[in-house]
Amino acid sequence: MNRFLYALFPLLLLSCNSQEQPGQPPREENKPAAVPAPALTLNPIHGQLYAAHDDYREPAIDSRRFKHSDIEPLVKRLGPPFAVSEAGQSIEGRSIYLVRLGNGPKTVLLWSQMHGDEPTATMALMDLFNFFGATDGFDAFRRQLLSELTLYFIPMLNPDGAEKYQRRNALDIDLNRDALRLVTPEARILKQVRDETQAQWGFNLHDQSIYYGAGNAPKTASVSFLAPAYNVDKDINEVRSNAMRLIVLLGRLLEEYIPGKVAKYDDTFEPRAFGDNIQKWGTSTILIESGGLEGDPEKQELRKLHFVALLTAFDAIASGSYQAADIQDYENIPFNNSNAYHDLILREVQIEKNGKWYTVDLGFRHSEVDFNGYEDHYHRASLSDIGDLSTFYAYEQLDARGYRAVPGKTYSSAFATLDDLRRQDIPALLRKGYTTFQLTKLPGRSQWAELPLEAVAAGKAPANEVRLYGNPSFLLQKDGQNRYAVINGYLYDLSNESGIRERLH
Ligand SMILES: [Zn+2]
Repeated sequence: MNRFLYALFPLLLLSCNSQEQPGQPPREENKPAAVPAPALTLNPIHGQLYAAHDDYREPAIDSRRFKHSDIEPLVKRLGPPFAVSEAGQSIEGRSIYLVRLGNGPKTVLLWSQMHGDEPTATMALMDLFNFFGATDGFDAFRRQLLSELTLYFIPMLNPDGAEKYQRRNALDIDLNRDALRLVTPEARILKQVRDETQAQWGFNLHDQSIYYGAGNAPKTASVSFLAPAYNVDKDINEVRSNAMRLIVLLGRLLEEYIPGKVAKYDDTFEPRAFGDNIQKWGTSTILIESGGLEGDPEKQELRKLHFVALLTAFDAIASGSYQAADIQDYENIPFNNSNAYHDLILREVQIEKNGKWYTVDLGFRHSEVDFNGYEDHYHRASLSDIGDLSTFYAYEQLDARGYRAVPGKTYSSAFATLDDLRRQDIPALLRKGYTTFQLTKLPGRSQWAELPLEAVAAGKAPANEVRLYGNPSFLLQKDGQNRYAVINGYLYDLSNESGIRERLH
């Protein structure tokens, strides 16, 4: 759209909504009427898109650890209205695809998973392909988008990283620090597609830590945005301000689904990053980061929200509605709080050292350990902090005032196999303080890490000491009774016997 049309746009909106707003001062008779800024409005179709997402959800992908071989057939099967080409190949020779859609004058480039272990948006792109390939009640909406927009997608820019569910590519280079040198073929592909398309809009799609919070509130940063700076001074030109305005609109959208859980990244200029450079090269660039959301470990709800957010973004670009957003509202989005969350916090629990008791908060975080060719993972807990954690939040927490943390005991006789152990009355053994069990044939940790018990090789008896970065098993005792067990960073309520039994299977 040229500048003339930009200037005209508020008038066009006004003509549809020309009633004077209550509370505005009356016009002065002798001056030409000032044109009030149009209000930022969301296309209400987002609610229908959210409700209909299941119809387009790609069933071949249902969790985060998919690979290039999982998405390649989904991309290659795309026929008209899609045009699919190979944009190039990764270091290990995997095809990186460019999918083009639409014939409109406004150009939009989206790339996902330049970090191999950040797959949420790739799932949403597969769903978007299904959406645009369908024929149903959204036909008019699709036609409108595709007549105004030309969309370019690069799903999974870093397939070699995705293969090992790691951030970096096969050379262990972070593609997002290779926008200047362009040493890696993956970075060169992104640069080349950007230059060839001269896209007006860019969407840089990532995942961030699930432990980020939104500002200082007890809310996860479930989706974070950034309109990257294009220089050290963080100046705001038209290219960047357009990105900021669209982010304001998307923030407003997501507040309807995940209130308080929308944040933004610090905009310190990173001279080597793609977002910053693509903004500099004249493409209005929007970084979207999927974070953590309670109850959504495989990020399927966030995938749906991405689907809705991207379609809403396309609609706002097509209609120009984002121009009604106020840049000040971008400044008002809370910043990411990068060290805000733990998985579990036990508040004001007593721990013992040399015969004395001390009152502390205990925080746990889980890391994912890969197995089965990076296709599966189990969780390994770490005691991530000890002390006054009153400034931290947690996905799960317990007011542990009056409780003593007592090390779990190792059961004296060994069991032959994990199945033998599972047949025991585990809830009763936990209540007696046994958290740790010897096995003559100790299977790999992936076999038992998620169970409400700790397995060790016969003859081993861990101290289960409460130490920073350790992974102790212990009981929470009150009035001499074991009320809770903490094993591998999971909290088990020992009065909930059926809950514990469920976790044994
Ligand atoms: Zn990333």
